[in-house]
Amino acid sequence: MKKIILLGATGSIGTQTLAIIRENPEKFQLVALSFGRNMERGRAIIQEFKPKMVAVWHTRDRVALEAEFPNVKFYNGLEGLREVATYLDGDVLLNAVMGSVGLLPTLDAIEAGKAIAIANKETLVTAGHLVMRAAKEKNVSLLPVDSEHSAILQALNGENPERIEKLVLTASGGSFRDKTREQLSEVTVKEALKHPNWNMGNKLTIDSATMFNKGLEVMEAHWLFGVSYDDIEVVIQRESIIHSMVQFVDGSFIAQLGTPDMRMPIQYALTYPDRLFIPYEKEFRITDFSALHFEKVDYERFPALKLAYNAGKIGGTMPTVLNAANEIAVAGFLNGQVAFYNIEALVENAMNRHTSISDPDLDTILQVDQETRAYVKTLL
Ligand code: NDP
Ligand code: MG
Repeated sequence: MKKIILLGATGSIGTQTLAIIRENPEKFQLVALSFGRNMERGRAIIQEFKPKMVAVWHTRDRVALEAEFPNVKFYNGLEGLREVATYLDGDVLLNAVMGSVGLLPTLDAIEAGKAIAIANKETLVTAGHLVMRAAKEKNVSLLPVDSEHSAILQALNGENPERIEKLVLTASGGSFRDKTREQLSEVTVKEALKHPNWNMGNKLTIDSATMFNKGLEVMEAHWLFGVSYDDIEVVIQRESIIHSMVQFVDGSFIAQLGTPDMRMPIQYALTYPDRLFIPYEKEFRITDFSALHFEKVDYERFPALKLAYNAGKIGGTMPTVLNAANEIAVAGFLNGQVAFYNIEALVENAMNRHTSISDPDLDTILQVDQETRAYVKTLL
């Protein structure tokens, strides 16, 4: 029985993680969780899964829940996330919060010796060197939930990592892949939230449309697999059936294929290297796809990806800046303060203004993250 701590239980990944736990009660138990502001869903989750400890964002929500569930221990705010992440009786932390708010809870959980399953890519982008170093020092496993990185993990089973030639990350191209840059000036929030293949949280759906998501994933891959940026390639795979691949020195490619359903990579991060049955609504038949398409990425069309490669190669605090600026710019787009194509402009502006600090410690990272957020907010 694996005892799971789930951060971000009300979100897209959180909901699918709950489906896996519900389906396998003899394998998994949810012992502690967090959610942000979605009280209706949060309440239902507490009633169903009966966790011992819960963190929410607001004090008023914590107080309300304490009255309703006297047998559960409640916390709130960032301190609450950190408490829950280190819950004594938990074996594995599945971090599915959105944004770099997930960094400190992840580091705390590693320090407490928990295994980590990480969906929260912003944490790896913001401070990948600190997270990977801590996991190594504490000898805890840190496994990806992101589908591309799960595909790479699967392709690397039994392989010698020194024989990797290249990691090839696949991208769907997002909601606006068939639009020109000129056409982007007219797009709305509603259109941006319609992803062709995947059903995800709002921030990630916008990141897919700009391709900042793929940029964050390039950095995530760099940290998870220790591969240099020159050896990580992005290709467009319109159908989202090939989730990523590894090219080896002998010219062999190993790819992982499957239906675009996050339950597979979430579950794999919890059962690795074993696998478990998943009851899909519709059987995936490879013959449903008579062709799979691969296209080069046009970096003029998707400048966000170029910015992300630049940030990654500069290193130090530059990825922290890219991530923080993007989080604020996307929030601005979602609430109508920023035009779609200005998301990239805001991120570029913040990066141009910043001089990267190399091998930053945690305090430096947190300070740069906060400063960048404050600066980009002045531009909205
Ligand atoms: P959602 O927006 O659907 O969910 C985010 C979760 O985090 C919710 O439970 C939300 O609570 C909570 N949350 C948001 N902000 C805060 C905060 N400041 N403090 C505490 N809790 C917070 O996101 P997704 O599930 O789509 O994504 C989560 C992470 O997983 C992201 O890093 C994303 O990049 C990554 N990921 C997601 C995939 C997907 O298919 N969705 C695929 C691969 C990676 P509430 O809603 O209650 O306020
Ligand atoms: Mg992904």
